[in-house]
Amino acid sequence: MKVRQIVQYQYDTGARGLSTLLGIVEKAGEKTYTVRWESGIRNRVQRTNTLVKLTTDKELLQEAAKPFPEAFRGRAGFIESRINRITKTEISLYDADKAGLESDPENPWATVCEAHGSIMMFASKSAARYHMAVPEWCSTCAKTINGEPDEDES
Ligand SMILES: [Zn+2]
Repeated sequence: MKVRQIVQYQYDTGARGLSTLLGIVEKAGEKTYTVRWESGIRNRVQRTNTLVKLTTDKELLQEAAKPFPEAFRGRAGFIESRINRITKTEISLYDADKAGLESDPENPWATVCEAHGSIMMFASKSAARYHMAVPEWCSTCAKTINGEPDEDES
């Protein structure tokens, strides 16, 4: 494992089956490396530990090749962020409750446009990630997506 690589750890939740925890390698040593998990927990993993694998998520693998994700800079509830390809703005995913965002229990995942401060809540992490790709829920980003000129740049 190398610094910035995104890894996953699969564990059995029992009733809900297998669950995947994602993390990012923050430090890489000879015998161990340090992973910061999406839960916010950080731990040192032995290189001999085969339960922690490189993520199989193609999109995340591509993310790992980009500059250090904002995500793991210690914002409360922060899970990940990426620069949107269309709008060039930073779109983040948060655990709304941990981030202190007002949320209802049925929609615990928040996408945030860091450039414009827009927030949208989702029922599942996958739905949130899907909407991270096209941030039309941010009214300012929506203008860029729909081809209207950005007022700020004129
Ligand atoms: Zn925006």
